[in-house]
Amino acid sequence: METYKNVYSNGEVIVTYEPCRCIHAEACAKGLSEVFKTSVIPWIDLEGANTNKIIAQVKKCPSGALAYSKVKTKEFVKDFVI
Ligand code: SF4
Repeated sequence: METYKNVYSNGEVIVTYEPCRCIHAEACAKGLSEVFKTSVIPWIDLEGANTNKIIAQVKKCPSGALAYSKVKTKEFVKDFVI
């Protein structure tokens, strides 16, 4: 079964989540629970912390399921976020 990336943005950073790569180690939820939720949909709320904290947590994802790109222009966000 093919799964699709989930894409989120706060206007400063774009965070993507690939469910098929997630190993459910919960490093993200344990490390930054204000952003990465385990029981709420959407489970990523980028309003929960500042961009530097979000990026630092994304870098700790052990599987690579989480990734980020810094926003360069608002047009970039419009094209990228569905
Ligand atoms: S840290 Fe990465 S591998 Fe672990 S639950 Fe979060 S997205 Fe999945």
